[in-house]
Amino acid sequence: MKKIYFDNSATTPLAEELRDLILNSYLEDIANPSSIHSLGRAVKKKINAARSSIAAVLNAEAEEIKFLSGATEANNTVFNLLNYDLIITSPSEHASVIEAAKASSKPIIWLNLNKEGYIDLAELEKHLSENQGKLILVSIMHANSEIATIQDLKSIGHLCKRYSAIFHSDCVQSLSKLKIDVKDFNLDLVSASAHKIHGPKGVGFLYIKRAVERMHKFRPLIVGGGQEHDFRAGTENVTGIIAFAKALEISLRPENINKVKELRAKLWLGLKDLKGAVLNGPLDLEKRLINNLNISFMDLKYTSEQLVLQLDLKGVCVSSGSACTSNKKLSSEESFIESSYVLRACRIDEEVSRRAIRISLSWMNSEAELEKMIEIIKKLV
Ligand code: PLP
Repeated sequence: MKKIYFDNSATTPLAEELRDLILNSYLEDIANPSSIHSLGRAVKKKINAARSSIAAVLNAEAEEIKFLSGATEANNTVFNLLNYDLIITSPSEHASVIEAAKASSKPIIWLNLNKEGYIDLAELEKHLSENQGKLILVSIMHANSEIATIQDLKSIGHLCKRYSAIFHSDCVQSLSKLKIDVKDFNLDLVSASAHKIHGPKGVGFLYIKRAVERMHKFRPLIVGGGQEHDFRAGTENVTGIIAFAKALEISLRPENINKVKELRAKLWLGLKDLKGAVLNGPLDLEKRLINNLNISFMDLKYTSEQLVLQLDLKGVCVSSGSACTSNKKLSSEESFIESSYVLRACRIDEEVSRRAIRISLSWMNSEAELEKMIEIIKKLV
């Protein structure tokens, strides 16, 4: 049975169009991009073309894009290598931000979230103003991977500029789905990953505003050969980088964006009137990230994980929260009561939290898959 894959916030299948590109790149881009002979220079040129095309999407300069192994590395780099006195972040960030912030041993201010997952700009401003004189690192993700809340990066960036704070955003979920303009949003640092946009796993980038890089003298996390303008040593993931740029180009196509929006609207139409269905995160679909529904089916006897497994048995893959936290070691008692940390941070009712499932779509899904999913859930309810 071919599985229906609705877990695209965890990772996405490789875009079919990348198959030949990847194979050809592995076979043809044989030289080391640091080699000065013509083959090496040709490979370097391809990396830099990918860098330029990604930078253009963000309204950044090419050299401000540093390729690395993914967003976990990008987020860790931000917290490990920058000089700052205080962190302001939110409890609904990805584990790689939360854990890297904690590991930095710097003081952390955790912003409150409302029920729909939004931070309060007035609260952010209060902390920025009370801590003037300290160098503050503000890290707020663009779109939440579990409940699809989109933070107002432009307003946050405006406040950061006013109080001279450094502004980082994990844009893993929003890249290709929302406008990211580093200049307009006053962003200093942006993390992203290829495998969330139908590219290969193991490649991502960190955008660093040139002025910030100069001022803070980042020490590389990985030292050695001085690749990525001395920022990240190690022979580049040439094929991954080339495929990342192409995946971004494909995912940005209007027909793909529109397809995701249409599929999500249809899915919600099919599920919203089911008895006991509760939408978590922003209630206005227009305000959610385009590919996500997070629903608790209160009339079902299943907890999130039980429902995920029930659906899996019927051929549908969804998730009960962020895939990255499912590896965490919990005591047997904790794993029984543990609900999503994001929903808890939004103070969603515990019973509702314990029944939440995340359905995340992509342009590679079909209407037939949606219909099957709706039918299965209807039968269960
Ligand atoms: N940030 C967010 C919001 C994510 O969803 C993920 C992946 O789950 C990551 C960071 C980590 O990305 P990577 O898998 O590239 O390390």
